[in-house]
Amino acid sequence: MLSDKDRIFTNLYGFGDPGLAGARARGDWDGTKALIEKGRDWVISEMKESGLRGRGGAGFPTGLKWSFMPKESDGRPHYLVVNADESEPGTCKDREIMRGDPHKLIEGCLIASFAMGAHACYIYIRGEYIAERKALQRAVDEAYEARLIGKNNVHGWDFDLYVHHGAGAYICGEETALLESLEGKKGMPRLKPPFPANVGLYGCPTTVNNVESIAVAPTILRRGASWFAGFGRPNNTGTKVFCISGHVERPCNVEEAMSIPLRELIEKHCGGVRGGWDNLLAVIPGGSSVPLIPKEICDDVLMDFDALREVKSGLGTAAVIVMDKSTDVIRAIARLARFYKHESCGQCTPCREGTGWMWRVMEKLVRGEAEVSDIDMLLDVTTQVEGHTICALGDAAAWPIQGLIRHFRPVIEERIRSTKTRVAVPAAAAE
Ligand code: SF4
Repeated sequence: MLSDKDRIFTNLYGFGDPGLAGARARGDWDGTKALIEKGRDWVISEMKESGLRGRGGAGFPTGLKWSFMPKESDGRPHYLVVNADESEPGTCKDREIMRGDPHKLIEGCLIASFAMGAHACYIYIRGEYIAERKALQRAVDEAYEARLIGKNNVHGWDFDLYVHHGAGAYICGEETALLESLEGKKGMPRLKPPFPANVGLYGCPTTVNNVESIAVAPTILRRGASWFAGFGRPNNTGTKVFCISGHVERPCNVEEAMSIPLRELIEKHCGGVRGGWDNLLAVIPGGSSVPLIPKEICDDVLMDFDALREVKSGLGTAAVIVMDKSTDVIRAIARLARFYKHESCGQCTPCREGTGWMWRVMEKLVRGEAEVSDIDMLLDVTTQVEGHTICALGDAAAWPIQGLIRHFRPVIEERIRSTKTRVAVPAAAAE
């Protein structure tokens, strides 16, 4: 278990002062100028060495992403955009960072922007996060006031930071839809290429990073890449904020070492599964967009990118949704199908039509009104959607259903058979 001295987010629960005085007492803004004076190449190389992979869900190496930004200016400004549109069901970690430790994020924005030659950064925050936007804005104002950011600031890198409030669309968490929305247009994903590092916000080189990815950067640079890389396993390094919800005794957010066993995470930090570990049915380990895993896999699996990919799931946003044996797992996945249907932006046919189709068949499965052959038909629809859409929402809609069928096909078949039997009995009795 991670010790308190190794935690980056020491005010995750907001018990301390989230303001500048409290942040300084926790070590934020300590020696920031010296870090900047080491130069862009040093910052990017340390980030690469740390092994940090993006904490928003995709897990792309952060230092590598920063290195994609053009080194020489062609006259266009560079931008950093922070994705704080935390809308993935089950995920509430960035919310706590912005509430309790906002200065870590602001300092990270300054350093990351410097490393990528950006003098401006936008934090795009989820529409429903009103208290968080106010908390963040308070901290930004404090940072301006103390000349930690802004023109002619004490760090020697002119830097402006803007907090932009979204309007509550899940799809705006997709990086190019987010950029469209920031530009004042409808939040619809762009076709890639071109990638944002070449043509991003207002047609300029842009990097989009998750809140947690940026907020951990100053501590990594202060404590050293090898310190961060010392947690977890190769290719899966560092500490990570996990959000655990559902049928546990005490749902919580907690920062832990990457690769912690799922069972240890739940038992040490949440008081265990409601009714004990044997009462566990399944877990969605990384937010609603990754397939669930049944108890047999949960028994031994590690919480990291590679271990969860090996069991055909994913770390995603590290939002762990726990379901005990009282759960109607078909209904749970049908509810997610409805969510994706509702949130599809509708611009590409497989997603627009497929999400509605998948949801309707899932509802039939919940009621047991489908035919057994509909299960394979549904699986076929998911493969027609997966990989055939502009953005990853299509995959996100398909994967939970694929996971359900992979692990719970007998449960679905039994629901169909038992429903048909119940319907048939009165007719037979009447003869
Ligand atoms: Fe829109 Fe869905 Fe296509 Fe993404 S996959 S662009 S959400 S229609």
